[in-house]
Amino acid sequence: MTSAAIRQQFLDFFKEKQHTIVPSAPIVIKNDPTLLFTNAGMNQFKDYFLGNKVPAHRRVADTQKCLRVSGKHNDLEEVGVDTYHHTMFEMLGNWSFGDYFKKEAIAWSWELLTGIFKINPGQIYVTVFEGDESEGLPFDQEAYDEWAKWVDPAHILKGNKKDNFWEMGDTGPCGPCSEIHMDCRTEAERAGVSGASLVNADHPQVIEIWNNVFMQFNRGKDGSLTPLPEKHVDTGMGFERLVRVLQQKTSNYDTDVFTGTIQVISQLTGKKYSAADSRQDIAFRVLADHIRAIAFSIADGQLPSNTGAGYVIRRILRRAVRYYYSYLDYKTPLLFQLVPVIAKQFDGVFPELVQQQDFVTKVIKEEEEAFLRTLEKGLKKIDELIQTAKTSGLSTLDGAQAFELYDTFGFPIDLTRLIASENELSVDEAGFAEQMQQQKNRSRAATALDTEDWVPVHPTDKTGFVGYDDLLVPTEVVKYRKV
Ligand code: ATP
Ligand code: MG
Ligand code: MG
Ligand code: MG
Repeated sequence: MTSAAIRQQFLDFFKEKQHTIVPSAPIVIKNDPTLLFTNAGMNQFKDYFLGNKVPAHRRVADTQKCLRVSGKHNDLEEVGVDTYHHTMFEMLGNWSFGDYFKKEAIAWSWELLTGIFKINPGQIYVTVFEGDESEGLPFDQEAYDEWAKWVDPAHILKGNKKDNFWEMGDTGPCGPCSEIHMDCRTEAERAGVSGASLVNADHPQVIEIWNNVFMQFNRGKDGSLTPLPEKHVDTGMGFERLVRVLQQKTSNYDTDVFTGTIQVISQLTGKKYSAADSRQDIAFRVLADHIRAIAFSIADGQLPSNTGAGYVIRRILRRAVRYYYSYLDYKTPLLFQLVPVIAKQFDGVFPELVQQQDFVTKVIKEEEEAFLRTLEKGLKKIDELIQTAKTSGLSTLDGAQAFELYDTFGFPIDLTRLIASENELSVDEAGFAEQMQQQKNRSRAATALDTEDWVPVHPTDKTGFVGYDDLLVPTEVVKYRKV
């Protein structure tokens, strides 16, 4: 089954269950001072959960463009090194706003995976919240009982607060969640070691594919939990991971979501992708991944720049450039040549890219040219610094050196960290930050805000103030809700 057919089947399934299919929100968030990029399907529905807005439909489903490279969810260092964390990915989701709850959500998850997609139940593990006595949070018996209708009890695992309790922020809606994990090891491997022991243990073939969040509490300013008057369901399934499971691959990059791009990279560079762990293979994966994040962010209106969200895009792009320059031996702009293949692939899903293809291509090419002008000198410089550190018996590049690489050669700190780590060195990041501070770099001030899913920038009060900083948002859009 092609990835396009899989996506469609997901949407059709929930459409049949009376869900309205809605478009993805932009990957770039322009009107929320606390979040730069969409990092989950539920972001665009935040106001429904907070009671600020009444939803037009109580059941919706979609595929949402997400980016996880900053703030609470930052997977950047995993990307390309592992085969299932991306910068940009699609999160398939279904929602109930005060409509159905655990019974239906769980039954439908199971029906879709095993009935429609025909996944072998023996390869599925689900988790339920074990409870937390210190907080007076109960074991999620209700979810357990619903799963137990379908799932072998040996495949229902208990999970802790970290993995199985979701909170929007310090205050607001929260509740237990149930994750669905896939054991994609071979039959022989599965017979040897129980998959249960490998869930949430970073095993490359035992991966989480879907999370079902059940919002049923509200956390008050004093930390107390009260039941929400209306309960909600918020689910998110990693599309590329689902495709990998259904196409029976051992890596997301071996699915048709990525093979087209990898093929073009191979044609351009004359190198071969062998799906292994060499730096060359990592480079292939990094490029195939990063071009999506870069292209869709620009198509959604975020140009690379030196501050805030624009700098996030710039540093992803520079990371990709360094990978092809150093590990695919390609010394001229490459990424921009990948835009057509992606634009075409997503034509029917996210048409914004094909509509702005020329513009996006031009922006990327110029960005690559600009960085390539200083990259070679920067790489020489960092090589010297690494050699000097090593011969002096040091294990760290100091902050001033990292800052020079940033300021003179355009090396984002994560690129310096990456190159240093490839040489078994670390970077004095506090020292770097200090140097940045001294230069009063505005980018740091902007990104520092982005530390949680949502950070209350105004204290909540008894009437349930849930608005934003009134300096940043006109007062008429500041909303109140009953608690
Ligand atoms: P993981 O534990 O694998 O990092 P997560 O628990 O952080 O995933 P959730 O926040 O629960 O992920 O998001 C819902 C789903 O989105 C996950 O079950 C997974 O399938 C998918 N997902 C999360 N992060 C990524 C990513 N960086 N790349 C691709 N898919 C992802
Ligand atoms: Mg994660
Ligand atoms: Mg997880
Ligand atoms: Mg999860």
